[in-house]
Amino acid sequence: MGHKNLVGLLPADLLPFIRKVGESPYRAEQITRWIYQHQASSFEEMKNLPIAFRENLAGEYLIGQERLLTQQRSQDGATKYLFELKDRKAVECVLIPHRKRMTVCLSSQVGCPVGCPFCATGLSGFQRNLDFSEIVEQAWRVGQETSQKINNLVFMGMGEPLLNYEQLTRALKVFQSPHGFGIGVRHITISTVGIPEKIIQLANEWPQINLALSLHAPNNDLRNRLVPLNQAFPIPLLLRAVDESIKKTGRRVTLEYALWKDINDQREYAYELISLLRGRLIHVNLIPGNPVLRSSFIPSSGQRVMTFARILEENKIPVTIRQSRGQDIEAACGELYATQKKERGGSQ
Ligand code: SAH
Ligand code: SF4
Repeated sequence: MGHKNLVGLLPADLLPFIRKVGESPYRAEQITRWIYQHQASSFEEMKNLPIAFRENLAGEYLIGQERLLTQQRSQDGATKYLFELKDRKAVECVLIPHRKRMTVCLSSQVGCPVGCPFCATGLSGFQRNLDFSEIVEQAWRVGQETSQKINNLVFMGMGEPLLNYEQLTRALKVFQSPHGFGIGVRHITISTVGIPEKIIQLANEWPQINLALSLHAPNNDLRNRLVPLNQAFPIPLLLRAVDESIKKTGRRVTLEYALWKDINDQREYAYELISLLRGRLIHVNLIPGNPVLRSSFIPSSGQRVMTFARILEENKIPVTIRQSRGQDIEAACGELYATQKKERGGSQ
């Protein structure tokens, strides 16, 4: 019989077991406090639980199922982790410390079915969805590895989070709960290529969450080449969903635009973007492209990035340029995973 993973559970999930062994319901919160606040990795540490109860607990549960395969520390302080899952597949996440903000960049899938040609994850194919505990455990392990309290989350690692909505939102509950990580939803960002129905569902169910839409192009012809899912959900449909999301939540949406040399970084695209976005409560985040092995996309020069930003700014479109952290550790999404996959024989 397989043991269940405590990482990812909340007190209510533990009640049936606690009732079964005849313990008091307040034990559930004691257990989750050990897991999420003290980051306990063994039952022996749970000193305020009776020994017999701890033994019962160990008979049914385990604490964490992932194994650290490798980590790389960047000169700028970002650390990238590759964790092995219970079926030996691997998943990547990154810790990005910035003063008091400890951000973890999380994965939602092993690989990604969308297949954007500039993305290491997309190029490596799709393996499977992560379940909620595998999503939670990435942040939990990073907290444990570093003894840091994680207080900011971005879903910008491997995979398309809105294609794994059920497991994603179950994980969000654990991140948000005071019995879990206690992270304010305003400190959580979901980055998506855009599935209109799910954008609207997210706005209804999680109105305070930050939404980032990976646009990368101001028209369908260009975006079809960059984000294959655009053929199913073209830009007008996406923007309609974004408008509805803004109407529901009153929150600004971030549009991500990775810049690639002579593909989408020409001045005329900046002007086209301006007409597309004018009047909307949005903010554009320009991402200098990260070079990826096996991809023919060449990152735009710093000069091109600046020019693109200046055009938007002059036309009153709020814009920032993402500081690309950890380039020296292959921080482009999915790079470490892709390299390891090759080294480990391609089956994971
Ligand atoms: N699947 C989601 C979230 C993960 S990717 C999405 O695509 O939004 C997070 C962000 O990194 C996206 O904006 C994606 O387009 C961008 N990205 C992926 N590969 C990149 C690369 N090589 N250089 C720069 N940005 C990249
Ligand atoms: Fe998937 Fe996002 Fe990469 Fe596209 S950019 S392949 S959607 S992870």
